[in-house]
Amino acid sequence: MGRDPARHVDEADAVVDLDGALVTAAFVDAHVHATSTGLALEGLDLTGATDLADCLRRVEAAGRRARGGVLLGHGWDETGWPEHRPPTRQELDRASYGGVVYLSRVDVHSAVVSSALLATVPEVRGEAGWSESGHLTRDAHHVVRRVARESITPGHRRALQRATLRRAAALGIGSVHEMAGPDISSAEDLSALLALAGEESGPDVVAYWGEMGEAGVARASELGAAGAAGDLFADGSIGSHTAALRQPYADADHAGHAYLNAAQVRDHVLACTRVGLQAGFHAIGDGALDAVTAGLAEAADRVGDEALRAARHRVEHVEMVSPEAIRTLARLGVVASVQPAFDRLWGGADGMYAERLGARRAVTLNPYAALSAAGVVLALGSDSPVTPIDPWGAVRAAVEHRTPGSGLDLAAAFAAHTRGGWQAARDDAAGVLAAGAPATFAVWARSGTAGGLLPEPDEGTPDCLHTVVRGAPVHTSD
Ligand SMILES: [Zn+2]
Repeated sequence: MGRDPARHVDEADAVVDLDGALVTAAFVDAHVHATSTGLALEGLDLTGATDLADCLRRVEAAGRRARGGVLLGHGWDETGWPEHRPPTRQELDRASYGGVVYLSRVDVHSAVVSSALLATVPEVRGEAGWSESGHLTRDAHHVVRRVARESITPGHRRALQRATLRRAAALGIGSVHEMAGPDISSAEDLSALLALAGEESGPDVVAYWGEMGEAGVARASELGAAGAAGDLFADGSIGSHTAALRQPYADADHAGHAYLNAAQVRDHVLACTRVGLQAGFHAIGDGALDAVTAGLAEAADRVGDEALRAARHRVEHVEMVSPEAIRTLARLGVVASVQPAFDRLWGGADGMYAERLGARRAVTLNPYAALSAAGVVLALGSDSPVTPIDPWGAVRAAVEHRTPGSGLDLAAAFAAHTRGGWQAARDDAAGVLAAGAPATFAVWARSGTAGGLLPEPDEGTPDCLHTVVRGAPVHTSD
């Protein structure tokens, strides 16, 4: 603000005295899963479980409340527990009195399930990633996740999605990018979310549909998605040992699993580029990012760098990215959609990444400074429910990177969580407070503000007083 309000008052519909509050562009969370986030907000949240027994106690209490209904929980992380292992299905059977239970790991790349759930899909025993323990990864996990998802009724789903959008608005977010797909959610789930966003006031929802090839492109267009992109898996996650690495894990005798090769990436990128959709992939390990960047480069060899730059493809996570891969992303105008909370939770020389990769490799992860210096547009996000929606927390984590020299300065981090998000969705006009730009902004309670300076990371999270999307209020604090 800071300018003389009287100069604009003739054209204003309403004048609100903000009493010195801070006004900024609204945040964009560039990677969310709305329905799963709603479950984490309203269902069985295991992110705070301190050990295996605590996890099982929470399952038992939630099972009583669910009264025989399907129990969906999220967020366990065995790496911080003294037992260092998830519950077994026998333990879940006992805790739930034989109930149907699905509990996703914090990174959502694996889950533990109860015997009663497995009994509904006996064929899962033949799938890759099957384990007698009930801890399922890869294809076996996809089968049980579908069972869990289909247990949610349309009315319940709408309530969950609404809870997510309201939470986002209350945190000063003007737009979320929903990462939908045939494995992780469903076409119905995405259509319902877009319908909700159209009917009720709230943050903008930009949809991405993670399905490969011509079929994926057709479906993405049909669904109104901005891209056949998002969680289109080139690999899994480091926590679940499913990220594809160049060299084996430090704590396992394999190098993870690449779901896509360069030729598949190339063909998908070409299919998207032809119809003007964004292509995009989930890629975390250096092996997966090699395949993705090789595929992008091969696509550019066919149609030219400029065609790729114009399509503005994106890669999600981009955690273990080599200098060569960074150069390719920069050259081809590919956006890096990154989650600084991953570094806060798991980064540095002594975190979970160091346990999985060894400290030498761990400290090379999430090189935001190098990406930004190379000219790669960064868009910040949460990957909620993997980490909670918390935009100021993400800004803080990007600034206070666990590896010195890898973080961003405050202004760059804030820009990556506002303007960068709009750019990631190919809107270059939004995300700034300027005459002629969309009136999408947030108002923050903050005393002693002068000249619109951002709060320093150590000042904590300011309260959001108002969130406005294109001139319409979507949140007002009470
Ligand atoms: Zn995701």
